[in-house]
Amino acid sequence: MPQYAGMSKIIAGAFALLSASAITGLITMVIIYKIEIGPMKPTPRPTLASTTTSPPPVMRLPKNLKPDSYDIIIQPQLYSRIIEEVNVTTPNQTLLFTGNSTVHFHCVQGTSSIYLHSKDLTVSSPRVLDKATNEQISASQPVLHQDESNFLEIQLDESLKAGGNYSLFLAFEGAISDNLEGLYVSTYIEGSLAYEGDTNAERFLAATNLEPTDARRLFPCFDEPEMKAVFRVTIIHRRKTEALSNGMRSVSNIIDDDWKYTRFFPTPKMSTYLFAFTVSEFEKSVESKSNRVKIKTYARPEAIAAGHAEYAANITGQILSYFEDHLEIEYGMNKLDQIALPDLVSLAMENWGLVTYQEGVLLYEEGISSLLHKEVITSIIAHELAHQWFGNMVTMKWWNELWLNEGFATYMSYFAVDKVEPTFQIKDALIMYDLHMAFEEDALASSHPLSPPPQDVETTSEVIGMFDAISYSKGAMVLRMLADFVGERVFTNGIRMYLKTFKGGNTEQNDLWDSIQLVRNDDSHLSISKMMEPWTTQTGYPVITIDTDNGEIYQKRFLFNNTAESSLWWPIPIRYMTEDSEPSFVWLDVRGPVKKEEFISKSGEWILANINCAGYYRVNYNLENWKRLLTQLEKDPDRIPPMNRGQLVDDAFNLARAKLLDVALALNSTRFLSKERAYLPWESAERNLKYFVLMFDRSEVYGPMQLYLREKIRGLYDFFRNETDTSTVPSDHTLQHNQIIAIDVACSSGLPECIEMAQEKFAAWMDTNRTNSFTHQQ
Ligand SMILES: [Zn+2]
Repeated sequence: MPQYAGMSKIIAGAFALLSASAITGLITMVIIYKIEIGPMKPTPRPTLASTTTSPPPVMRLPKNLKPDSYDIIIQPQLYSRIIEEVNVTTPNQTLLFTGNSTVHFHCVQGTSSIYLHSKDLTVSSPRVLDKATNEQISASQPVLHQDESNFLEIQLDESLKAGGNYSLFLAFEGAISDNLEGLYVSTYIEGSLAYEGDTNAERFLAATNLEPTDARRLFPCFDEPEMKAVFRVTIIHRRKTEALSNGMRSVSNIIDDDWKYTRFFPTPKMSTYLFAFTVSEFEKSVESKSNRVKIKTYARPEAIAAGHAEYAANITGQILSYFEDHLEIEYGMNKLDQIALPDLVSLAMENWGLVTYQEGVLLYEEGISSLLHKEVITSIIAHELAHQWFGNMVTMKWWNELWLNEGFATYMSYFAVDKVEPTFQIKDALIMYDLHMAFEEDALASSHPLSPPPQDVETTSEVIGMFDAISYSKGAMVLRMLADFVGERVFTNGIRMYLKTFKGGNTEQNDLWDSIQLVRNDDSHLSISKMMEPWTTQTGYPVITIDTDNGEIYQKRFLFNNTAESSLWWPIPIRYMTEDSEPSFVWLDVRGPVKKEEFISKSGEWILANINCAGYYRVNYNLENWKRLLTQLEKDPDRIPPMNRGQLVDDAFNLARAKLLDVALALNSTRFLSKERAYLPWESAERNLKYFVLMFDRSEVYGPMQLYLREKIRGLYDFFRNETDTSTVPSDHTLQHNQIIAIDVACSSGLPECIEMAQEKFAAWMDTNRTNSFTHQQ
């Protein structure tokens, strides 16, 4: 029970009376909100004492040597199962790997030292060869720099000459990690445990996860995305295991009683972070239908036998074909393996030709997995497959522009999901999800530009910091805004041109702007780069404010802490409509305020800006226009597109949070929900109201708030009542989502019908006397 501390019991009693009416409850909530939020002072930022006394070390490799290819042999000593041997007391597991690599490289500028990356490896036996003369150049023992650079330095007795080709051989050994970094061990149980601590059922596999900077933990290498090379790899592994890597298997042979080796065909030229291999007992796979590319999905033998990989295999071929057709460029390899791993640090990793997934996002069990789980599987496969072009074939030059990988993969996945599972109708929901993820993070003063200067992203921790909602979600939203602005056809032709031009290479965002500019063939005053740069190089996003009385409009950076000053402004493409006109387009390319005729409400009609939320900005209006829009929502919500119905609620709540709008109006924006059945407005309302519920928890407002929510949710709950009571779900995916919202909001706000239903179902479940068998559903 929430503890009450603050106002007197008398006032609390008064709330109980007031809450007899939901609308009065609303007013009460507003008053208390203002009392509670008003005096809040943000915690001051800590000031950091400067401790730097010397210049920081250089973190980027010199560009005088260019790798061309690697020959790698790696032998993980791992056993896939513990074998009990007579008279041996210690278990036979070994978390070690050994190997050697030869990197063939080109010398661009003469030098007598070689720098490459290495981390947590013991490196020895350097041998440098001049490939023109086949003569060896004597080299020092490798020295590892004791700083964050992870540089491995080798000094040579004579200089390498500009224009020459050389090779460097190194032997190395390291530990197979147990924390999912570099080459790591992952474990699972096959069958079931015969007794507690039974090691017979335990299985071990080795897998790699090298993005962004862990290739250097596997073998010494030029570990920067621009230093692309071909990889020829041989894995030596236990006889009872199978090895997979990026390329197709070329040979697999037995070496002796314990070992065999598997050699793979060379990879395309690619970045080090995309190198991958696995060694496991996963022998069987499910093949996907496909013409040219051999697609196989691997998982634990039990999961394959039970058909859990069927769904993933079924859609993967279709998604790959969709991208090939849409992008008009073939997938860059002749095989694509996917593997479901019991452990992986991220949900999935797009290694070229060997995509790794957490089991949970690849496997689907008919009758057990939630129907909605297919949405997760489809979206993640679509994201990883989009990377095979955006990231693998064309890679960002440096991690500061990670959004060229992640923003694209996120954006392209919407269309692939919609193509292969049109009945899910989740494209708009995915877009809104990313929009709100980005809006939330980007409204903090601590956010960062989509594309910060490269010198701001140098150390591994700075690189890892780029894997956030800005690179993924804002990246996707900025691309969506560009596509809306230039038109889908120009955008698609532009990215086809971008891929074709830079295939196998690395890019900066200018290369993307130039490709789109070229196909656009439009010499209007605002070039693509001029329009886009403020969105990618400046932190944050704007809120535009429209006064429909006089047509005045201005923009400012949107921040939750609205007292923070900002002089930033953006060129904003605005699609808008009015009560009696269809969508039109206008630019806001100044900070303002500026008067625009189109934003004057001439006869009391409402005006709505940012149709379908195509622009990455929020919209605020004069109070009168807000009221007109809310009245429209109550009268005939269908006049306003569903995305905007959701966005009006989201904007209202967030503007209130930033003290740019009265909180009463924000709460009022949910009034129309009693009759609303579409998912997007409900999703938006639920998320924002949850924030309010959290804010009001343990305060007197909690009661009125719950009452208000009960009033709003009743209609939606009743809409699904028959299905909920009979434990069935609607066939439509968006309705399935809404049924979840209905039950969630109804039960958590204490709607008696919902509580009763939940109690009955729980009692019935207890009565069936079934034991819950989660133990092996890994
Ligand atoms: Zn990704």
